Amino acid sequence: MPKILVVGSINVDLIYRVPYIITPGETLHSTSCHIGMGGKGANQAVTAAQLQAEVYFVGAVGEDHYGDYALQNLRDRNVKTPFIKQEGATGQAIIQVTDQGENAIILVPGANYHITAQQLDEVCDCIKTADILLLQLEVPLAIIEQATKLATAAGTKIMLNPAPAQPLSDALLQQVTILTPNETELALLTGVKAQDDKGLKEACQLLLAKGVQGVVVTLGSRGVFYYTNKRNGYVAAKKVPVKDTTGAGDAFNGALAVALSKGQSLEDAISYANEIAAYVVTQSGAQPDLAIHLTCN
Ligand code: ATP
Repeated sequence: MPKILVVGSINVDLIYRVPYIITPGETLHSTSCHIGMGGKGANQAVTAAQLQAEVYFVGAVGEDHYGDYALQNLRDRNVKTPFIKQEGATGQAIIQVTDQGENAIILVPGANYHITAQQLDEVCDCIKTADILLLQLEVPLAIIEQATKLATAAGTKIMLNPAPAQPLSDALLQQVTILTPNETELALLTGVKAQDDKGLKEACQLLLAKGVQGVVVTLGSRGVFYYTNKRNGYVAAKKVPVKDTTGAGDAFNGALAVALSKGQSLEDAISYANEIAAYVVTQSGAQPDLAIHLTCN
């Protein structure tokens, strides 16, 4: 069984359906609302655990009902939670969604910003024995940097999904085995508007020059562009009827981590992750049930 350690965010998603995105000074009625489980770290962990990886999580939820609910959700989905602490208020994503599919999101980091370096010290053994350390950027950068250092010292592969987009130091990038930006994140990290083949290659080359070993750029319904110093190319997305693209990127990252941990080639791992992410966009919510996709050879 592949072993994946996720250091990342856990949120509750408070989703409000609205006729249009609210404008300043306005009070607007929501036509429906519901609570979903979210946070990039949690979404990726739940995907990987459903695809039969052993998944450990380092993070924090609040000492509130949302925190209890989020922790129980992770346990129910087979994510191992001994390194998650409860402190403060649970992270929230307050999401407005219109019938036209537009959205606007307020992110409240809450407990996600209470993760400490001491928590990472407690998982040193777990970092050493993991196949992959899987990271995103919804927790403090200092925590990402510390986790990266520990994984580098242990010789553990590091997969970083640089979302939400923010600048990263060369010292961090040079330790990354696989970086998985979308087009916006790639542009922010490199300063290159990677809108065509030439731009994508140029941006990826810049990242490789900084020491990243492989770049996997997700292109939404167009699939993926990948670049290593040996190979590069596109892997098309599966054509599916789209219901809800929330969490597509997270499903992609969780599945890619599982497939790479099992020793699949980068191209095969991307095809598998594309398949899982395509299934996720046919379902509602950020953590849909993947029971029909349980195998990954
Ligand atoms: P998000 O932040 O919304 O989760 P993202 O911007 O990180 O998404 P995308 O590039 O939009 O990630 O999508 C990730 C992957 O999901 C794509 O590479 C593709 O495999 C799959 N995907 C996304 N949208 C579609 C779609 N409409 N049809 C099929 N596959 C899709």
